[in-house]
Amino acid sequence: MFENYKYTAAERFMRYVRIDTQSDPQSSSYPTTEKQKDLGKILAEELRQMGIADAQMDEWGYVYATIPATTDKKVPVVCFCAHMDTAPDCSGTNVKPILHKNYQGQDIVLPDDTTQVLRPSEYPYLKTQVGNDIITASGTTLLGSDDKAGVAEIMDLANFLTTNKVKHGEIKILFTPDEEVGKGTAKVDMKKLGAEFGYTLDSGDAGALEDETFSADGVHVVIHGVISHPGYAKDKMINAMKIAGEILAALPKDRLSPESTDGKRGFIHPVRLEGIAEKCTIDFIIRDFETEGLKKKEDYLRTQIEERMRTYPKASFEFHVTEQYRNMKEVLDLYPHVVDYAKEAITRTGLEPKMESIRGGTDGSRLSFMGLPCPNLFAGEQGIHSKLEHISVQDMNKAVQMLVHLVQVWEEKS
Ligand SMILES: [Zn+2]
Repeated sequence: MFENYKYTAAERFMRYVRIDTQSDPQSSSYPTTEKQKDLGKILAEELRQMGIADAQMDEWGYVYATIPATTDKKVPVVCFCAHMDTAPDCSGTNVKPILHKNYQGQDIVLPDDTTQVLRPSEYPYLKTQVGNDIITASGTTLLGSDDKAGVAEIMDLANFLTTNKVKHGEIKILFTPDEEVGKGTAKVDMKKLGAEFGYTLDSGDAGALEDETFSADGVHVVIHGVISHPGYAKDKMINAMKIAGEILAALPKDRLSPESTDGKRGFIHPVRLEGIAEKCTIDFIIRDFETEGLKKKEDYLRTQIEERMRTYPKASFEFHVTEQYRNMKEVLDLYPHVVDYAKEAITRTGLEPKMESIRGGTDGSRLSFMGLPCPNLFAGEQGIHSKLEHISVQDMNKAVQMLVHLVQVWEEKS
């Protein structure tokens, strides 16, 4: 089926990564940065050029498109989703993608900053890529394979389906802004999307299939001290900043923290501290794979704060919990065929499905709870959110193959 197909994913990818689409966690507008629409416009236009007539970008920067069914069978409408923004952690301005053809396992020195060296000893997955073509950035920026790889692969799927005869049901395409700042689904119109099941393409190694994410809460703690003139503060002043320091010092570092946990273990993580002597705020993120586990960690944090506060009867504190997202597995377990079909498609691509858990969230975790069960499929991205980010062209093409198989599996099994 793919022998004579000329893949377009890598060529598209090299163009899309040059467009700066960094999102901004401090912004309160939608999208958080206007420049994300620069890519959205191009994608909608390229989809229309393929003959996908309804492709459009809305005022929030979301791109929607429909590939009509080619079968008489009644097949559930499936959506493929990727995010257009890149992470605020690393510059995304003037990305210069470099194609390293026929990689031979050597260290790759990035030309614009030669201290940036991509080494197979640090990125062992590279050892599986000998003979393949690797794309890197030039040393001063991230690459943006997270998630323009997913974007390019879904675009190539559209290209494949509009130029080849494949039986499939109705397919929806969704490109979102602001995933990296946790707002990727904030303005998504589920009715307009009109899909029953979905897949995000935003994972790494070929064959990876993720049906589980963290469950996540935020905790906002406010500490109220007692202020007075420092020259006359004896037995009066209670410095909120010093209490905050004690609270942070009381948190374990060898467990329950991001720097000491992996696998299925969650954590309590202070992400922001702000204050003056009178009042101090600490923001925490709480992560666990079980919603129960979140509650336990929040209770633990509250107990730690209460114990510190006992020494300061005139000081007080507030403790506010907000839900951020929930483990998508709670939803996906109700629709096991969504993950099973993906496994089948990965196997047909000649790969071994690798079930993984995400120590984070995806657009899919939120979409799953918004009524669109949505596991995460591999896009090939590696070393994300860093200057050493890279991807292999062959992995991108495999992702395209997987998608073509996947739409066929849905048609066959319906
Ligand atoms: Zn991503």
